[in-house]
Amino acid sequence: MTGIATAALDQLRERLGDAVVTDVDVMAAYAHDEADLVEHGQPGCVVHARSTEDVRHVVRVAGQYGIPVVPQGALTGLAGAANAVDGCIALSLRRMDRILEIDRINRIAVVQPGVINKAVSTAAGELGLRYPPDPGSWESSTIGGNVSTNAGGMCCVKYGVTSEYVLGLEVVLADGEVLRTGRRTAKGVAGYDLTKLFVGSEGTLGVITEITLALRPVSEGVLSLAAVFEDTVSAGAAVSAIVADGRTPSLLEIMDNTLIRAIEAYRPMDLPVDAAALLLAAVDDGSSAQLERIAQLCTAAGASEVHVASDPVEGEMLLAARRLAHPAMERLGKIIVDDIAVPRSALAELLDSTQRIGEKYQVRVAMVGHAGDGNMHPNLIVDRDDPDSHRRCMLAFDAIMQLGLDLGGTCTGEHGVGTLKKGWLATEIGPIGLRTHRAIKAALDPAGILNPGKVFEIPG
Ligand SMILES: Cc1cc2nc3c(=O)[nH]c(=O)nc-3n(C[C@H](O)[C@H](O)[C@H](O)COP(=O)(O)OP(=O)(O)OC[C@H]3O[C@@H](n4cnc5c(N)ncnc54)[C@H](O)[C@@H]3O)c2cc1C
Repeated sequence: MTGIATAALDQLRERLGDAVVTDVDVMAAYAHDEADLVEHGQPGCVVHARSTEDVRHVVRVAGQYGIPVVPQGALTGLAGAANAVDGCIALSLRRMDRILEIDRINRIAVVQPGVINKAVSTAAGELGLRYPPDPGSWESSTIGGNVSTNAGGMCCVKYGVTSEYVLGLEVVLADGEVLRTGRRTAKGVAGYDLTKLFVGSEGTLGVITEITLALRPVSEGVLSLAAVFEDTVSAGAAVSAIVADGRTPSLLEIMDNTLIRAIEAYRPMDLPVDAAALLLAAVDDGSSAQLERIAQLCTAAGASEVHVASDPVEGEMLLAARRLAHPAMERLGKIIVDDIAVPRSALAELLDSTQRIGEKYQVRVAMVGHAGDGNMHPNLIVDRDDPDSHRRCMLAFDAIMQLGLDLGGTCTGEHGVGTLKKGWLATEIGPIGLRTHRAIKAALDPAGILNPGKVFEIPG
C-alpha cells in the first residue's frame, strides 16, 4: 500500500495546499537518502513544512489516520535513516531555513531545522564566531539532520560532535504538542537532559522545528601537513603517538591507497598515488611548534615523507581533497559505507584487520576516516559487473562491524543507525539497552508513527 487515504490528503491540503505533493516523479526523489542500496519504500505524499504549525498539523493528521511520518532534511544521510516507508508522509523540513538569531555576547545561534550547516558557519563567521561541527556534507546537509544524526566531521578530534553544540530544541511530539527543551545559558542542569535525548534520535521521537546552538570564537590560524606512509598500520601508529604525546590537532584524517587513487582520478590534485596511506593533520591555534612536533611523530612512526603546507591556501587544498572522498568513491561503483569507531589505541589493528576482511570476501575496501577519533569509514565497493558482489560486500560489512565491537568500539561513530545498522545496534546495546530504547519510544510515540522501522525494531 503506497497511497494515502483521500480524507487524510484533503485534511493535509486544508492547511498546506500546494505544499502537499503527490506527483509520483517528485515523490521518488524523497524515497531514500544517499544510502541507496538500503531498503526503502515509496512515500504516499511529500509535505514541505514552512512552520512549526505546519508540522503540528501534519503530525496530528498522521496520528488520526495512523500514517507513518518520516522527517527529512537534505537526504544526505548514509544509513537509510530518512528512507520512506510505504505510504508514509515524507515530511521535508528544508523550507524551514531561517536563521532566527545570532547572539554575539551569549555566543548562540537560533535556527530553523532546514538551515544548511554552511549557512550557519558563514553567518557566525561574519560576527567573528564559529559553529565547529563540519560534516563532509556541510555544504548540503541541514542542521535538523545534523542534530537528528548527531553528526560529526573533521573537527571532532578537537571540538567534538554536534551534541556538544545543541543547547536547546523546539520539538513537535507525536501527539502534535510542542516541547521546548534546554536553555540559552552557558550552564544549566535543570531536570533530565531532554535535549540530548532528541539529539541523534533520527526522527523517531519527535520532529525538531527549532534549534539553539552554541557558537565558539573563530580559531587563531590553521596550519596543516600531509604525511605519506608505506603501510596503513604505521599511519595508525602515528595517530596513537600524536594523541599519547598530548597534542591537540584540530584535524587528523586518514585515506588509504584506493581512496587516494580514486580522488586523483576524479580530480587530479597531485596526491601521492603510490602511498599506502596519507595522514592529514592540522592545528588551529597558529602554533607552528605543535605542527612541527606532529611532523616529528609521523616521521618516527615511519612516514616516508611529511609535507607541511606552505600557506592556508595549500592547507585548504589538502582538506578539499579529503572532502572529495565520497563523490570520488561513487565513481568506482555503488558503495556501502561503514562507520565504526574504536578506541584510538586500536586504530592500527582495525586498519590491518579490515584490509584482511576485504581480501577474505574479495571486496574492494577503500578506507577513509577521522583517524584522530578512531572513527573509520571503510567504503565497500559493489562491483556493478559482478552479480554476487553485493552479497559479499554485506558479508564484509558485517565482519567489519563485528571487528569494531570486538575491539571495544561502536557500530556508528557519526552516521547513525538508520535502517542499515539496526541489527548491530541491538548487538551493541544488548537486551536491557534495547528494552530501554523501546520504553522511551513507547512513552513519546505510543502509536509508533514517527519514522517507524529505524534505529531498532518494535516487536509485534
Ligand atoms: C559527501 C557526504 C559526506 C558526509 N560526511 C559526513 C561527516 O563527515 N560526518 C557525518 O556525521 N555525516 C556525514 N555524512 C552523512 C550526512 O550528511 C549526515 O548524516 C547529515 O547529518 C544528514 O543531514 P540531512 O539534512 O541530509 O538529513 P537527512 O539525511 O535528511 O536525515 C537524517 C536523519 O535525520 C532525521 N531528521 C532530519 N531532519 C529532522 C528534523 N527536523 N526533525 C527530526 N528528525 C529529522 C531523518 O528522519 C533521518 O533520520 C556525509 C554524507 C555525504 C553524502
